[in-house]
Amino acid sequence: MEKGDLLYEGKAKKVFTTIDPDLLIVSYKDDVAAFDGELKKGTIVGKGAVNNRMTNYIFKILEQNGIPTHYVQELSDRETVVKHVEIIPLEVIIRNASAGSFSKRLNIEEGRELLQPALELCYKDDALGDPLISDYDAIALEKVTRKEIDQITEYAFQINEILKEELARVDIKLVDFKIEFGRYEGGIILADEISPDTCRLWDARTNKKLDKDRFRHDLGNVEAAYEEVYERLGL
Ligand code: UDP
Repeated sequence: MEKGDLLYEGKAKKVFTTIDPDLLIVSYKDDVAAFDGELKKGTIVGKGAVNNRMTNYIFKILEQNGIPTHYVQELSDRETVVKHVEIIPLEVIIRNASAGSFSKRLNIEEGRELLQPALELCYKDDALGDPLISDYDAIALEKVTRKEIDQITEYAFQINEILKEELARVDIKLVDFKIEFGRYEGGIILADEISPDTCRLWDARTNKKLDKDRFRHDLGNVEAAYEEVYERLGL
């Protein structure tokens, strides 16, 4: 499968058309941006390959567990064929422990385990800085239907259980993560990526951060952290 026109270029990925209108090719970049793209930009050498291969590895496991995804075929280190979905403009965040904006907003110490997984929705709008939005707001504004949001919620908690278990196997604690869904052939499927860019991953024993927070907060050894996740998963 060959790349056609560049359809979209974001902070971390380029998306190309293909001869098949139902398929796209995603190309993962080493570029990284934090704090909604404006405040901090950089490069993490090798990140594109780690994120591509980890996403594909996880999406295949999710498929085996009954979660439909956009994954079709890995083409190379950085490139993957995916289904051409209509992205629902909501970031779905699941948290197992407190961190990031949750810790800040509610003044909760980082790393505090939550009684049960929490779910948040953010409206995907760079100009607004991806604000929190309730399910009722999103439905009222015609971003999503009640039926879709119920399906998304069910999938999101199922994905959390599968991902948590898969990462625990390699001594990684899943603190939180962000996922996105799309519409495809009348249903909802998982799209975008699951990677150290979109998850908080801590070493299960030492709580060492193995994710994008190393870049966000200048903790050093950013490349090594991404490589470590890659190696531990046996990719
Ligand atoms: N996240 C993401 N993209 C975003 C915002 C958040 O992938 O635009 C991920 C982030 O890496 C973390 C989780 O979602 O794993 C929860 O992020 P949080 O709401 O704490 O925001 P942040 O602290 O990243 O601003």
